[in-house]
Amino acid sequence: MPAVAAVPCRRRGGRGRRPGRPGRGDRVELYLGRYLDFLYDTFRLARTELETRTRFTALQDELDAAMVAFRPEVGGSRTTRAQVSILLRTEPDRTRRREAYLSRAEASASLVQRMRELLEVSNALHRQMGFAGTVEGRLAQSGLERDEVEAWLAEVEQATREPYAELLERARAELGVERVEAWDLDYWLEQAGSYPASAFPKAEAVARLKATIRGWGLDPDALPVTIEEANLSNSGWNIPVRIPGDVRLVLNPTDGFPFYSTLFHEYGHALHESGIAQDVGTFRSDRPGQFGEGMAVTVERLTGMREWQRRVAGLDEATIERAAGVERWRKVRRLRSLVAKCRFHYAAFDDPSADLAALESRLSEELLGVPGPERPLWADDMFLAQPQIYVQNYVIAELIAAQVWEALRRRFAPDPTADPGVGPFLREAFWRHGQARDWRELIAEATGRPLDARALVRELTGTEP
Ligand SMILES: [Zn+2]
Repeated sequence: MPAVAAVPCRRRGGRGRRPGRPGRGDRVELYLGRYLDFLYDTFRLARTELETRTRFTALQDELDAAMVAFRPEVGGSRTTRAQVSILLRTEPDRTRRREAYLSRAEASASLVQRMRELLEVSNALHRQMGFAGTVEGRLAQSGLERDEVEAWLAEVEQATREPYAELLERARAELGVERVEAWDLDYWLEQAGSYPASAFPKAEAVARLKATIRGWGLDPDALPVTIEEANLSNSGWNIPVRIPGDVRLVLNPTDGFPFYSTLFHEYGHALHESGIAQDVGTFRSDRPGQFGEGMAVTVERLTGMREWQRRVAGLDEATIERAAGVERWRKVRRLRSLVAKCRFHYAAFDDPSADLAALESRLSEELLGVPGPERPLWADDMFLAQPQIYVQNYVIAELIAAQVWEALRRRFAPDPTADPGVGPFLREAFWRHGQARDWRELIAEATGRPLDARALVRELTGTEP
C-alpha cells in the first residue's frame, strides 16, 4: 500500500515529493495548498455578475421542473418516462416503439427556446469566471482539461467502432429489418437476453453483497452504511447524509442481474464515502464526479467477473459465455451513446445558435449508425440543465475502473474477487483520502501509471495487456 507523501499543489506549482510520511509542517502546507484550490473556485464564482447568476439559476430551475412534470403521450394517453423506456425495451410492435421514442419531441419543442438561452447565459457566466467557455470551465472545476477528455472520447469511439458495426448488423439481421432505427436497439438487446434472472434473486442480493465484501477483507456490518428499501422509480440511490459517519442506500429490489449491478455500484459509492478519513471538512467528499463514479464502477464490476459469477451466482461456463457476449454489446452501445451525448453537449455550449437539430441528427448517423429523430429531441435533456457538465464522467469512470481492475488482477492473483487484501488496498489507496489528494495521483500510485484509455480499449477490443 502506498505511503502518504507530501504532494505539490497543482495550481501553485510543484515543490518536489519528499519520501516517507509527511511531518506536521508538510501536512499543513499540503492541506493549505489543496484548500486554496477549492477557495480559488469559489472566488471565480464571486467575479460573476449577479444578474447573470440569477438568470442562470432561474432557467435551470424552470427547465428542470418542466422536464420532471412532462408526461409523454403514447397511444392517445399520457404516461410516464419510465413506462416509455419499458415500451422501448419490450414492445414488439415497431410502430408503437417509434411513437414511444418520439414522444419526447413534444417536451423538446416546448423547451428549446429556454434551453438555448440557458446555453448562452451559461457561456456568459463562465466567461465572467475567466474561462474560455462553459465546457472548459466546468471541466476545470472537476480537475479535467478539455483536450484530454476529447482524446479519451476519441479512443473510446475508435475502440467501439468495429464491435458496434457488428452489433448493428446482428440487430438488423435478427430483427429482419432493412435499416435499424433508434427505437429498435433497446428492444433487440432485451430479446438477446442476459443472465437468467433466477440466478440473481432479489431476496439474496444484500446477503451476497455482504459476503463478497467480507471476502474482500472488510466487515460490512461494522460500516456506517444502512440499506433501506423504498418504492422508487429507479432501482437504487446512494445518499451520503454525513461523510463518513452516515451513508445510506435506498433500494427498490428486483430479480435479475441489473439490480445486482446497481446494488454493487451504489455500495461502491458507500464504501468510498464511509472510508473517507479526513479531519478537514472540505476534504470529506468523494468528488470530483469522475473519481466518485470510478470508485463505484470498480465495485460494480465485481458482478461482471467470471470468478464471482461462478462462485456467488452459481452460473455455468456456457451461460456466462452467452450472457457476457450480450453484456458486451450493451456496454459498447452505452459507451457510444455517451460519446455522442458528450459531443453534442460540448458543441451545443460552443455555439448555442447553431442548428442543434441538425447536429443531433448528424451525431446519431455518425456515432450510433441510425437516422436522427424526425422531430428534434435534444432540448429534453436533464444533463444540459445541470450545474455541472457530467456525461463524460461515466466514460472516465469506465476508464478508471478498467485500469484499477488491471492493477487488482496483477496484485491479487489468482482471484481478486475473493482476496481479503483488496478491501484494505482500495481503502488505503483511494477511499481514505477524500479530496485531500489529487485523484490523478491516487490512480497513478495505485495502478503504476497515470490514467489512460488503454485498459478499457484492451477490454473492448479483446486484446491482451
Ligand atoms: Zn454512481
